[in-house]
Amino acid sequence: MEFTTIRQWRRAVIKVGSGLIAPGGQKISAKDMLPIASFITESRNQGKEIILVSSGAVAAGLSTQPQMQKRSHRSIPEKQALAAIGQTLLMASWSRFFDFPCSQILLTYEDIHDRKRFVNAKNTIQNLLELGTLPIVNENDTVAVEELKVGDNDNLAAYVAMLAEADLLIICTDIDGLYEADPKRNKNAKLIPVVEKIDNEIYALAEDSKNPIATGGMKTKIEAAHKAVVRGIDTVILNSTKKEVLDNLLNGKLTGTIFRKSTNPMTAKKHWLLHAKTDGRKIFIDEGAAKAVCQKGASLLASGISAVEGDFKKGDSVEILFKENKTTKLIAKGITRYRRQTRSCSPR
Ligand code: GLU
Repeated sequence: MEFTTIRQWRRAVIKVGSGLIAPGGQKISAKDMLPIASFITESRNQGKEIILVSSGAVAAGLSTQPQMQKRSHRSIPEKQALAAIGQTLLMASWSRFFDFPCSQILLTYEDIHDRKRFVNAKNTIQNLLELGTLPIVNENDTVAVEELKVGDNDNLAAYVAMLAEADLLIICTDIDGLYEADPKRNKNAKLIPVVEKIDNEIYALAEDSKNPIATGGMKTKIEAAHKAVVRGIDTVILNSTKKEVLDNLLNGKLTGTIFRKSTNPMTAKKHWLLHAKTDGRKIFIDEGAAKAVCQKGASLLASGISAVEGDFKKGDSVEILFKENKTTKLIAKGITRYRRQTRSCSPR
């Protein structure tokens, strides 16, 4: 077995997918959860902090509803109901493995992209760690409507890693890491142990496979790694069904793929802003202001504004746009220091 030595870490987010929790779409199985639970306990014994992002709520819920298993199509409210049933089973299953308390955090896209809620969630996670609990996170599938979902727990785990200011993101799967070709179709495919930079070629490796199962949802894993590394968080993809892989990781040795953190990471605020929703809040600026913002990184002054769309309050994220030869370009995103309300007066 070949190893890559990984940097010492202090706080990790571990993501575990549905396939490891409820293999083959059956009920929750301890088989693949147990080695991960031992890894979590051992890491904590070494003085490290762990946050777990666990999928499997929908799968676990489904296992209790035989009449629904027969159908391949399930409506959104049905899936939301299944998540509500399964989430309690999921928490109960993880809790059995630990002799310290677990705590549950259910997040939606809104919680991560609204600055106030982001800061609240961040403070809560910090508190839960200080209290010695194991925070277990999932998407709040029961309330999140499709268009307001992160949608997959790989990306959710990357957001949680930023939220929690982790220095390592561990994505557990049942494949050994990122390969140069689809290992299920090409026996000679080589594992890529280290990715220094995530570019289009790396994304193409996930697209390459015609069989989506063979790549194990690699695209969302690369997206997650991308989000994390630009924030200065090393990300590893490993096969947690092999116990020795987790044992080695406890000794700083990785068998899998590491996406190395960027040497020039973005600040937390800038990174948040990059992914923040602006909900149609737009500020159009003139050429002089566009130059000042883009070339000097200057703040926007009222004199450079040519038009405004949407209402906002102090602290909201907004898009900054510049119109050049009839084309409108998004040139920046920012946080407003002022409030704008275009309330129409109703007759008395
Ligand atoms: N939140 C979903 C669940 O717990 C899983 C999403 C995913 O697997 O990425 O069932």
